[in-house]
Amino acid sequence: MKLAIATNNKHKLTEIRAILDGCFDELLSLGDLGIDVDIEETGATLEENALIKAREIVRLTNMPALADDTGLMVNALHGAPGVYSARYAGIEHDDKANRDLLLKNLSGESDRSAYFGTCIAVCYPDGKYLIAQGKVEGEITREERGEGGFGYDCLFYSPELGKTLAQATPEEKNSVSHRGRALRAMLKILQEQD
Ligand code: IMP
Repeated sequence: MKLAIATNNKHKLTEIRAILDGCFDELLSLGDLGIDVDIEETGATLEENALIKAREIVRLTNMPALADDTGLMVNALHGAPGVYSARYAGIEHDDKANRDLLLKNLSGESDRSAYFGTCIAVCYPDGKYLIAQGKVEGEITREERGEGGFGYDCLFYSPELGKTLAQATPEEKNSVSHRGRALRAMLKILQEQD
């Protein structure tokens, strides 16, 4: 079976392929499918947004599709930026502006605890869908550290790894990350279907 992946983010694609590759004949990005869409994330939760994205790609391709939605929940900010993580600074997917605003809003704050949550949805043309969640706990650093990863990775210190997610190799990140955990949970669900 082929699976459409509702993203063109090359980091996400690498993380997804590393875990789900053996489970499908082909994992096709939006670029592979020649699809250029910007799907509005209008949901109130990560699950709603993941379902909105996956269902839209099913509608466009008539293929099973996977989408993920991620939020960074910072305790001192009462769970912000949360479901609004992609547009925290106002402009969709301006990662640098989002990180700068996060550091500004946490300046002088001693509680730096936070977690990433990811919801993954796999939707099928017949309307059936599967959901898996993953979470990683950590702390927001006081400055950017590391060159790898994307988004908030260089501000997210993982006690399990002893470094930020941007200082980790892709394999290390996948071993503890919100998305790695959600993907392994989804893999288990998919294998139980067979
Ligand atoms: P989305 O799931 O692509 O909508 O991502 C929401 C926001 O979280 C965006 O600002 C992403 O850059 C950021 N983000 C998503 N996944 C990760 C990750 O694995 N590490 C760091 N930031 C992420």
